[in-house]
Amino acid sequence: MARVVIIGGGFAGVWGAAAAALARGDADLRITLIAPNEHMVLRPRLYEPEPDLAKVELSRILKPIGVEHLRASVSTIDTNRRVVVADGEEIGYDRLVLAAGSKLVQPQGLPGAERLFDIDTLDGARRLTDHLRGREDYSVVVVGAGFVGLEAATALAARGRVLLVDRSEVVGDQLGPGPRTAIEAALDQLGIECRLRTTVTEVGDGYAVLSDGTKVDADAVVWSVGMRASELTRQISDKLDHLGRVPVDENLRALPEVFVAGDAAAAAYDAGHTVMQACQHATPLGKVAGYNAAADLLNLPLRKFTPAPYVTCLDLGAAGGIFTRGWERRVLATGAEGAAIKKRINQAIRPPVDDAAKILAAADKVYNVLPFFPRDDEKPAA
Ligand SMILES: Cc1cc2nc3c(=O)[nH]c(=O)nc-3n(C[C@H](O)[C@H](O)[C@H](O)COP(=O)(O)OP(=O)(O)OC[C@H]3O[C@@H](n4cnc5c(N)ncnc54)[C@H](O)[C@@H]3O)c2cc1C
Repeated sequence: MARVVIIGGGFAGVWGAAAAALARGDADLRITLIAPNEHMVLRPRLYEPEPDLAKVELSRILKPIGVEHLRASVSTIDTNRRVVVADGEEIGYDRLVLAAGSKLVQPQGLPGAERLFDIDTLDGARRLTDHLRGREDYSVVVVGAGFVGLEAATALAARGRVLLVDRSEVVGDQLGPGPRTAIEAALDQLGIECRLRTTVTEVGDGYAVLSDGTKVDADAVVWSVGMRASELTRQISDKLDHLGRVPVDENLRALPEVFVAGDAAAAAYDAGHTVMQACQHATPLGKVAGYNAAADLLNLPLRKFTPAPYVTCLDLGAAGGIFTRGWERRVLATGAEGAAIKKRINQAIRPPVDDAAKILAAADKVYNVLPFFPRDDEKPAA
């Protein structure tokens, strides 16, 4: 029997598996998802106070739709022999979907790096939460004032003092000028101190040293500086982009038998942009790549990746949220209104479980989060 193998159990892998099952219908096709984790982790929610709520049992999604889950980690992809090696075992495939996601970029040669915390993985977020649990007045240094660092800093400000440091001249540098005033106002409101053009040069027991030589109190130092695609991408292409992602065509194909999705894929968004390493893109990328992997074997027409309008929604803790639209990140909602949109998105990214019809219907609906977003013609917030 022909076999589709999917590497990864995040947004792209899970939705890829569901979409492959959708394309399969009643045909004979074996679908195997390989991932070491028992749960699908909703990474965008890992800044929340209880990270364990940001997970869904993979078996409750995969079993009802007839997808096997092999709990293992892939070390090798042999595209000539159409084989992957997972925990030492060779597994053959007819079509492969690489959806192994991304990882936080770790600092090189930072003294005390082993003391760093992060919210990149469920284990990382649990470690941070457990470390600070029960403390009411901690001091935390957050390194990196990008999307993830801002969500970490504003969430942590609920119970302690937060110092946010970034090498850039401005906060949210990569988010552009659109939401900056609103972000700066939120940081002010929460009493978060920012040190720009600065980084951390040493982490010790209860302290951090900054690049200007200052030693500051730090019960925890949270590292949130950039993401890079899985190293497995190197085994698919030698033309990776600056984030380590594999270039793909409009069907998300990288090689004749290999499709790539999620944070591992450098898919075109439009003539001027590639997709973001974001769940809003990883989900539809997974749905298209998984569908196409199965459809290709079953001689069905392939689907094109045609992305929905780009939006961002940033949770700023007690200061509310910011919802933006377009690549210039035009602010459409702030404060309580922005927070309410974020809450709805955070609920919507949780996949249906236990019900094959619902899971397959969601896999068929490539942009199912969209009804929650304000329309393009809505007025920007004052
Ligand atoms: C704190 C935080 C906040 C975020 N906020 C947002 C947000 O607000 N909006 C947004 O759109 N995006 C957000 N993101 C980004 C979003 O989480 C990612 O873009 C998304 O998770 C990517 O999905 P993915 O399936 O490609 O990869 P991942 O979610 O990284 O999943 C990868 C999967 O592959 C598995 N895997 C990895 N290596 C192997 C291997 N060798 N063998 C087998 N399996 C492997 C992993 O175990 C995992 O199951 C946030 C991320 C973080 C960390």
